[in-house]
Amino acid sequence: MRLARLHGLEDLSVDEVAPRPVRPGTVRIDIEYCGVCGSDLHEYKHGPAPIRAEDREHRIPESEWDDHLPMPMGHEIVGTVTEIGDGVDRVVTGDRVTLCLILPCDDCRYCADGEYHLCERITGPVATPGFADSIVVPASTTVVVPEAVSARHAALTEPLSVALHGVRQSGLRAGDTTVIFGAGAIGLGIVGLAAAAGARDIVVSEPRAARREAALAMGADAVVDPTETDPVTFVRERTDGGADITIEAVGRSETLTQAIRSGAYGSTTAVLGVFVEEATIHPNDVMQAERTVVGSFAFRGGHQRDRGEFPAVLEMLADGRLDPEPMISDVHPLSEIETAFEVLLDPEQDAVKLLIES
Ligand SMILES: [Zn+2]
Ligand SMILES: [Zn+2]
Repeated sequence: MRLARLHGLEDLSVDEVAPRPVRPGTVRIDIEYCGVCGSDLHEYKHGPAPIRAEDREHRIPESEWDDHLPMPMGHEIVGTVTEIGDGVDRVVTGDRVTLCLILPCDDCRYCADGEYHLCERITGPVATPGFADSIVVPASTTVVVPEAVSARHAALTEPLSVALHGVRQSGLRAGDTTVIFGAGAIGLGIVGLAAAAGARDIVVSEPRAARREAALAMGADAVVDPTETDPVTFVRERTDGGADITIEAVGRSETLTQAIRSGAYGSTTAVLGVFVEEATIHPNDVMQAERTVVGSFAFRGGHQRDRGEFPAVLEMLADGRLDPEPMISDVHPLSEIETAFEVLLDPEQDAVKLLIES
């Protein structure tokens, strides 16, 4: 079968490898689509994220290439179950599934409290071999996709679950004015989910034109180019002094400050951006205005996968409350995966989310 692997920096190739055998408790999935995640791009450009040795025993068995090259990638997976190991009763052959790949240690205080996404020894989806023809995974990671959801949209379940977790962490209620900084895949997901949740006057600040357009298509009421218009002034004028909920989905010092300052007194700012560098804020912006800054990481996975964001997102995709089509810029065949990565890394091309079709 084909498996895309990273052989070095900016060196991704589709290799011919032997399929893994299905063992007790595991299933084989023939992959239809796998979305390219920001973390995949980061590893392509800067190398594999360091993997803590003590985590290895919790990793999915197929990830044994781990922290040495060639390294497989791709975790935003949707496909069809084609083979079932002994003892599996969660799915049957022919089920379309997506994968919820937060694997908890089951041994720390957060796992004891059911907060598996906060697990001290969490094993995330790094080095999952999803850009491939098929994958063998523990059956426990599978989540069945409702028939009404297309494979294309089901491939977005994971990033949309990250977005939904952010909306929940922000405490957004129907009628709240909302500002989102950054219209990448997560920011756009938040736009769609905030609109579905009844947010009022959703404003998006985003420098790239195609992403501003996608934000409007996802349900934003107004967009602003922060290179031309100060988003804080823009939001304060529209919302009688500031929004109720503000979201940082960029990961930069400047946008964190803008997110806090565009909120009304007593507002909440949820931080979803991944910061490469430290950020500076003026604490008086929080103190004097009695604002709240709250973090949001991943989604409720592990043993919560059937009660967390995954089933909620799939239900909203099924009944049409959430239409993620504007998030998908293009679909590339597995054979042209490196082109897809180059397109995403080229700011001129303005792509948001690309799917790889196996
Ligand atoms: Zn992802
Ligand atoms: Zn744990």
